[in-house]
Amino acid sequence: MACIFCQIVSGRIPSDIVYQDEEVIAFRDIKPQAPVHLIIIPRKHILSLAHLSEVDSALVGRMVAIANQLAKKEGAAQNGYRLVINCGEQGGQLVPHLHMHLLGGRGLSDTLG
Ligand code: 5GP
Ligand code: ZN
Repeated sequence: MACIFCQIVSGRIPSDIVYQDEEVIAFRDIKPQAPVHLIIIPRKHILSLAHLSEVDSALVGRMVAIANQLAKKEGAAQNGYRLVINCGEQGGQLVPHLHMHLLGGRGLSDTLG
C-alpha cells in the first residue's frame, strides 16, 4: 500500500485527525498554507475527481458538508474560507488519492493560480 493517504486512513502514518466517520476522514495538512489547512478525504482509495464513479459521486457532497462543519469548528467560517480539489498533474494534484483542501484563517488571494 504505497498511497500516503491510505496509510493515514489505516493509521500506519500518524496524522492530526480532526474528524472521522465510516466514509470520510479529515486531518491537518503537514505543510499548512494558511492558519486553518485541513485535508478531507474518503477512506476509499479513489485516485482523483476524474476517477470518481457515479456510485461514489455523493461522497463529494458529504466531503463538502463535513468541510463546512469543520470550517465553523476551526473558527474560519465567519470570515470566509476556500475549498479546493486539485485534479491531475496540471491541476496541481500531488497525492493521488482524492482530497479536498479547507483553507482559512487569513485573507486568501483572489487568483487561483
Ligand atoms: P495536492 O497538491 O495533492 O492537492 O495536496 C496534497 C497535500 O497533502 C499537500 O498540501 C501536502 O502538504 C499534504 N500532505 C502530503 N503528505 C502528507 C502527510 O504525510 N501528512 C499530512 N498531514 N499531509 C500531507
Ligand atoms: Zn489512497
